Amino acid sequence: MMARNQQNSDKLHAMRHSLAHIMATAVQKKFPNVKFGVGPVIENGFYYDLDLGEVTLSEADFKVIEKEMKSIIKQGQEFKKSEMDIDQAINWAKENNQPYKLELLNDLKRAGTTAAKDIASEELGIEGEGQSKIEKVSFYSNGPFTDLCRGPHLDNTSQVGVFKLTKIAGAYWRGKEDNPQMQRLYGVAFQTQQELDDYLKMLEEAKARDHRLLGEQLKVFTINEDVGKGLPLLLPRGSTVKTLLGRYMRQIEEAEGYSYVDTPVIAHEKLYQKSGHAQFYAEDMFTIIDSEDQKFYVSPMNCPHHHKLYEKLVISYNDLPLKLAEQSGLYRHELSGTLTGLIRVRGPITQNDAHIYVTAEQLKTEFIKVLEMFKQVYDVFGIEDYWYRLSLPDFAKDKFEGDKQAWQEAGNIIRSALEDFGADFVEAEGEAAFYGPKVDIQTRNVLGKEDSIATSQIDLLIPARMGLKYVDSENKEQQPLIIHRAILGSLERFMGFYLEKTAGWLPFWLAPEQARILTINDSVKPYVEQIQEVLSGVVLEKPLRHNELRFTTDERNQSLGKKIKDAVALKIPLLLIVGPKDQASGQVSVRTGDDEQKIKIEELSDFVKTLK
Ligand SMILES: [Zn+2]
Ligand SMILES: [Zn+2]
Repeated sequence: MMARNQQNSDKLHAMRHSLAHIMATAVQKKFPNVKFGVGPVIENGFYYDLDLGEVTLSEADFKVIEKEMKSIIKQGQEFKKSEMDIDQAINWAKENNQPYKLELLNDLKRAGTTAAKDIASEELGIEGEGQSKIEKVSFYSNGPFTDLCRGPHLDNTSQVGVFKLTKIAGAYWRGKEDNPQMQRLYGVAFQTQQELDDYLKMLEEAKARDHRLLGEQLKVFTINEDVGKGLPLLLPRGSTVKTLLGRYMRQIEEAEGYSYVDTPVIAHEKLYQKSGHAQFYAEDMFTIIDSEDQKFYVSPMNCPHHHKLYEKLVISYNDLPLKLAEQSGLYRHELSGTLTGLIRVRGPITQNDAHIYVTAEQLKTEFIKVLEMFKQVYDVFGIEDYWYRLSLPDFAKDKFEGDKQAWQEAGNIIRSALEDFGADFVEAEGEAAFYGPKVDIQTRNVLGKEDSIATSQIDLLIPARMGLKYVDSENKEQQPLIIHRAILGSLERFMGFYLEKTAGWLPFWLAPEQARILTINDSVKPYVEQIQEVLSGVVLEKPLRHNELRFTTDERNQSLGKKIKDAVALKIPLLLIVGPKDQASGQVSVRTGDDEQKIKIEELSDFVKTLK
């Protein structure tokens, strides 16, 4: 069974990859001067990065390109593999006027890799990174088209399944903003028409849930070019949601013995030299040089600051476990080409962060408590479709630092914590952080793509590196272990994820504007004041305590139809419609979703408290 699935997925991969070549063949026929970037397989399909000079492709061009692709498929052109010496290949790129391929080949020749953080090395057929000497590279040809490529491909173009071009988007060469901008042409491909149709239907539904669209429509956030890419600005509604998420987490964490702290968002480079970030993480951090020529980094994570507080707070085992929590805005230098709405940003990344410092004996118990908190929180948010991934190092490939025995022990403790907790988990070798094993919480986004929403990690290295200690019951010096955990991940990212999950219909307690009073005309003014007074007295206690009702009144001189339309567009969960008849009978017309009913004003407060 496994073997057949593997075969299927290999075939699908070869099919999609072959389609990338077929698409490139078709584009080259129409635009002979096209310069090619990379053209990898992605989930459900493929793309190719194209430099077409002055020409800008639009969806209107898809039909023509698709038609040409179908003709190539019909011809059954054979995919032929050949090899060249690296210098020959460099000549090939020069002769064929392919500057991007030339750049990649030169990188390969010089460094044995096309550099980290892009997909180019995979595309070029390099097994493993950092190989010092590349002598030969492989090419594939079909009909008039030849491409530098590792393969594998199908035997000929007639064997591909069904496909459709779906999207054209700008993409910087190798994801860097100062590089030329290319056009990325996307397609999807499946073995059967039914699978393709199902996928396109899901895509259509997912489009309506895209958090960037919803963020605009519901006035949650905006992105301004002058402020910069990947630096979203939260509008009042977005700020309210973020504050509520933060308050909710703080309440349940404080109930579990976490202490909140506040640390600066920058720190002197000394701190990051001690923590190792300056050595291993420098290109992901923003740097500041002050006027006294001192170098500072903008915090990409809270850990090193918290470790300094540990030194201040812990002397002996009596002080453990210590649970430090913080919600400060962090910044990371993500490549500009990867930035997306609230999901992938440069900042602020308001981590729902905590560090739990424990003795070895406390590790399992505290890890189970973390798992319990994950469950408690996800139950509240109605997140059901998730599973745990125990990420361990690949011992065979030595992809870990430090003492192997300590790694194995920590891995075993987490595994037994997951088992005792009754978690549904998978194990993934080679997915651990460089400093320790971890548990990732995996889910699927609206496109069905697997994604980590949160993580809980054991740190085996930093206590030694930063000299963290405590004195045990026999007066001996020991090193603590650290659990890093972020239940909601970053508050902004969670907001993006959750907008998509709920299609913008946030649960009642979290909706930025929970209720809106809509008047039919001005004659009801005194009655509206009574209703406002009732609503002002409503305080919700679940799941967030002391959550005062957030409501507004729409008294504009507009038709009721228009007022309702505006309120529904903002997905306000509770509408209170008030006209002269309601005033006369002491009632309110209440709309929640499709449901409409009359409620007596004396019963309004209790009614609101029942809403979910
Ligand atoms: Zn290829
Ligand atoms: Zn941390």
